[in-house]
Amino acid sequence: MKNIAILGSTGSIGTQTLDVVRANPDLNVVGLAAGSNVELMEKQIREFKPLVAVMGDANKANELADRVKDTDVKILSGMDGMLEMAVMPQSEVLVTAIVGMIGIRPTIAAIKEKKTIALANKETLVTAGHIIIPLAKENNVAILPVDSEHSAIFQSLNGENKERISKILLTASGGPFRGLKTEDLQGKTKYDALKHPNWSMGQKITIDSATLVNKGLEVMEAKWLFGVEREKIDVIIHPQSIIHSGVEFVDGAVIAQMGVPDMKLPIQYALFYPDRRPMDTGRLDLKALKSITFEEPDIETFKGLKMAYEAMDIGGSMPTVFNAANEKAVALFLNDKIHFLDIYDIIAEAMSNHKVIENPSVEEILDSEQEAYDLIAEMKF
Ligand code: NAD
Ligand code: MG
Repeated sequence: MKNIAILGSTGSIGTQTLDVVRANPDLNVVGLAAGSNVELMEKQIREFKPLVAVMGDANKANELADRVKDTDVKILSGMDGMLEMAVMPQSEVLVTAIVGMIGIRPTIAAIKEKKTIALANKETLVTAGHIIIPLAKENNVAILPVDSEHSAIFQSLNGENKERISKILLTASGGPFRGLKTEDLQGKTKYDALKHPNWSMGQKITIDSATLVNKGLEVMEAKWLFGVEREKIDVIIHPQSIIHSGVEFVDGAVIAQMGVPDMKLPIQYALFYPDRRPMDTGRLDLKALKSITFEEPDIETFKGLKMAYEAMDIGGSMPTVFNAANEKAVALFLNDKIHFLDIYDIIAEAMSNHKVIENPSVEEILDSEQEAYDLIAEMKF
């Protein structure tokens, strides 16, 4: 039996993690945490019987406690609750399926308690990779990627020496607006941007796929996970999302992982690594597919990737500001307050206003996040 706790259990990755649990009776859920969806959390508690359930919102936690008072589950709230769940002695693996930098502290707490991390929350590595990765090494804790590209790279590297990586091939679908130019993007609405061609994901990451910010965050995530510099990470647009990413080795051999797009595969792989369990998912039919294609990313139009490179090259607290500004801009876009292209302008403005802190502490990371939020709150739209 493997005991797991899930941070962000009501979201896209969280609910798919619970699908994997349903299919594998030797997985046991001991903790669940989510933001505000009390109805779904109640259902999850009744089905999975965790010891602990956390709501980010304190009022929602009270509401939940009332709804499940006939059960033995312990209800907690806020950051304190998430930290308590992250270190609970009964759990072996923490699945970080929360969205945003709020994942940093629970992840650090869990690593210190030697919990394996199944990491979906890329924002944690983007902003605090310089803290998380050395800490995981020091505690001999595995950080197993859930992001499909990083899982593909991880699977391609299996058994290989990292020193022998020549480059990482990071694939991207290109999102719903692939092929368009800046003038075509002007009037795009959130409904257009939320129509991802291949993946069904949370709203924030779906917008990030349309701007290519997601790929920028993933380049940073890959740098931390695999210890490679960005010059060795080659982003390739591959619209069919069949090759999930790969590695070119020093002898020219390329090993990549292919399959139908289904997040349950990387989730399950992380939960059972190094085992590979059977899975009831679609199968790749190469003959039916006939062809797959590749393109250079258009980073002049989809500036998210270009700005991520800038943030990465500057380093320190700049990736935090890139990420925080994007988070706020995406929220404004989803609330119909700004246009699609304004997302790029907001990120650029926040980055140009920021005084970089080298090697930021967790406090300094969270302060830089707040500084970007405050700056954007004062902007007029
Ligand atoms: P989502 O929006 O669907 O779910 C987010 C979860 O976090 C929800 O359960 C929500 O309740 C919880 N949450 C949000 N704010 C909270 C708070 N203040 N306190 C407690 N819980 C809170 O997001 P998602 O698409 O599942 O993405 C989660 C993470 O995984 C992100 O970092 C994303 O980049 C990454 N990721 C997602 C996918 C995907 O297919 N969805 C793929 C790769 C990586
Ligand atoms: Mg991804």
